[in-house]
Amino acid sequence: MGMFSSVRLHQVSCPKCGAKSDHWVQFYFGGCGLEVFKIGDKITWGLHDRGEPGHRLIVTRGLGDPCPGCGGPYASSPNHGPDLFDVFIEDDVITHARWSEDEFGLELGPIRADTLFAVLDGYPPGIKVGNEHDHRS
Ligand SMILES: [Zn+2]
Repeated sequence: MGMFSSVRLHQVSCPKCGAKSDHWVQFYFGGCGLEVFKIGDKITWGLHDRGEPGHRLIVTRGLGDPCPGCGGPYASSPNHGPDLFDVFIEDDVITHARWSEDEFGLELGPIRADTLFAVLDGYPPGIKVGNEHDHRS
């Protein structure tokens, strides 16, 4: 898919087997200038933009690695491999990333603004992000 950005995840716990592992997850939203972010970083725009700025909360496709302990916490399908992540971006800040359960059906498209993403009203149940905003909980 060409240019991308990435986010480094430190010691993510697998929801299935409990193994902890570090991940380097590529995603295709924002400037896609090969930046390496961490959770809490603000993405940049203006290089090889994909997606759209200004959304309060979006989820976009991340490409990482399966869990080294169990091969991936969620069953894979032809459209959905065990190496896919959901990357959540709120007001252009990367707030969370996790192995995708495919609950948003991003692989089904359509491709919008040259990437796969969905605009959300709020975080799915079970996601808690630590920032100044007051989320439904
Ligand atoms: Zn696992």
